[in-house]
Amino acid sequence: MGIFKTNAMVISNDKSCLFPLVCRANHACVPNCTYIWDDETGLQNLYACDNILPGEELTVSYLPDNMVEGRTSRRGMLRALYRFDCICELCSNDCGIMFEQDERDRVKAKMLIEVVNKTAETMDCSLGGDVHKLMYSKTCKQLYKHLSSMRIHPTLEYLVLNCLFSISILLLDQEQAIQYAERASCLSKKLTGGTSSNTKDWELTCTTIKDQFEDLEILQSAVNSWCFII
Ligand SMILES: [Zn+2]
Repeated sequence: MGIFKTNAMVISNDKSCLFPLVCRANHACVPNCTYIWDDETGLQNLYACDNILPGEELTVSYLPDNMVEGRTSRRGMLRALYRFDCICELCSNDCGIMFEQDERDRVKAKMLIEVVNKTAETMDCSLGGDVHKLMYSKTCKQLYKHLSSMRIHPTLEYLVLNCLFSISILLLDQEQAIQYAERASCLSKKLTGGTSSNTKDWELTCTTIKDQFEDLEILQSAVNSWCFII
């Protein structure tokens, strides 16, 4: 049970599995790989999300995708959940200007995520613009721009792109929705592979999005179930 609790990976809402190879990947706060479960093949696939040199260790993140906190919080969570002190490249580099800048950037990113999530709580999901939706869109764009200047795990960028796509639909901004869907599709390919259900869904969205704007009633019923929290 100890081995299972420490090493098993979550593959769905109610299932976790042990994998002899992928489960051996160590944690890094900015890892060079991501993993995704493939229901059809029954395999847990590992994808490179950064350039990897020959002989370099393959790493994944054990932290939640929306975790952008600084070193103290990251180490605290990793110690509580997995009982180790992170000594990844980012956590070990504690006296450089780049580390201090990264810590400051993370404080700002966390604050922007909090504003986005708080705005999402006051927002209704009806199609069309209002002050809350415009505020949400503006803060999300600020966050996306800020994250693009940081060294972060791209899964967070992916979450923000999802939100940017969703709010563009809500604001009935077709052009922007297509733009974000295309970006999300590219990033999904990088993080989950070209044949994953995520990537296929995004590719389908890119080709059918114009048609979806033809019937706003159907679009509204789809939007009603969307989540706007990062
Ligand atoms: Zn670390």
